Amino acid sequence: MSADTDPPYEICNSEAPPRILFLCDHASNRIPLELNTLGLSEDDLSSHIASDIGAGALTRALAKAFEAPALLGIWSRLLVDLNRGADDPTAAMKLSDGRIVPGNARLTHDGLMERVARYHAPYHAAIAEILDAAMAKGGVPIIVSMHSFTPVWRGWARPWHVGILWDRDYRLACALLKRFEHESDLTIGDNEPYDGELENDTLYRHGTMNGLPHVLIEIRQDLIADEAGVAAMAKRLESVLRDAFVAMGPLRIEYSRPLVRAAEITGGSSMDEKRRTELEAAAFRRLVAHLRSRTDVQNIDLMNLAGFCRNCLGDWYREAAAQKGITLDKDAAREIVYGMPPAEWKKRYQKEAAPDALAAFAKNDKTHS
Ligand SMILES: [Zn+2]
Repeated sequence: MSADTDPPYEICNSEAPPRILFLCDHASNRIPLELNTLGLSEDDLSSHIASDIGAGALTRALAKAFEAPALLGIWSRLLVDLNRGADDPTAAMKLSDGRIVPGNARLTHDGLMERVARYHAPYHAAIAEILDAAMAKGGVPIIVSMHSFTPVWRGWARPWHVGILWDRDYRLACALLKRFEHESDLTIGDNEPYDGELENDTLYRHGTMNGLPHVLIEIRQDLIADEAGVAAMAKRLESVLRDAFVAMGPLRIEYSRPLVRAAEITGGSSMDEKRRTELEAAAFRRLVAHLRSRTDVQNIDLMNLAGFCRNCLGDWYREAAAQKGITLDKDAAREIVYGMPPAEWKKRYQKEAAPDALAAFAKNDKTHS
């Protein structure tokens, strides 16, 4: 296999509509020939430090069951970890589970960037392409990322069979954790054995930043170490996932983090999430101020042109408050946008709608939420 010309990923069911996209960052333990196994032994390369044992086979089985596309990395995570940002200090591990990785020990920044360009960037570009195409058609793809973990870590036997990892977007994780309560023989980790919060990992990049529902599922490796184990777990996960997708409710884009990564607005210097949220809030306040000053702009015209109006904005505010446990009255929330009771604004500024605007509104009304 040539490392230069082939894409560094395998794609399953590329023609299937991506209502669900399965990902497997750590599917393979292969190292390109010219890198001489990174100086590791065959034993090291067949262990959990080089790949997530069983995760690739399980991902393919799930993609088949759901008739959904799947993207799998075809090179070892030791080359460059697909589930890390290119700027992450652990993108190419020099030490993993106590073992030194000789081929990474003296890897320079340029050397790492070369690996990123060849093995890492094309995988993420392919994911982005699939998601962008689906979203351009109004779809809200669900991303399910499959991993596996070693039963014993630094001498400690981990108690979980399955781990559900999530960051801020709890939609799918919550539905899965609830559904797994019915699988009483399984011990489920909630953000165990790892925490799902890692800026610029695969799900941060493609799930969080796009506002798409997503989850990372970790399976204990001994449960999926052979074909029979993979088949049994795939069957079980299929049923759990199907129920969780339904329980999750209607699909929509929802942002659980600030809209940009800190580095994108500060050129690498640190800025905390509070500051980013303040900037977004400032832009919201300016939008509200603008709408308050432009009383000539009618709600019905906003609806017809853009599918939202002042009332929607007020309703979104109310929904955001509800998510934080704050109950707001519908009119009180809308008043925040209008700057006065909605009825008062209507009396002062709302003009009689033109017949063509009314007709257009009636036609589009189905989409008004
Ligand atoms: Zn993994």
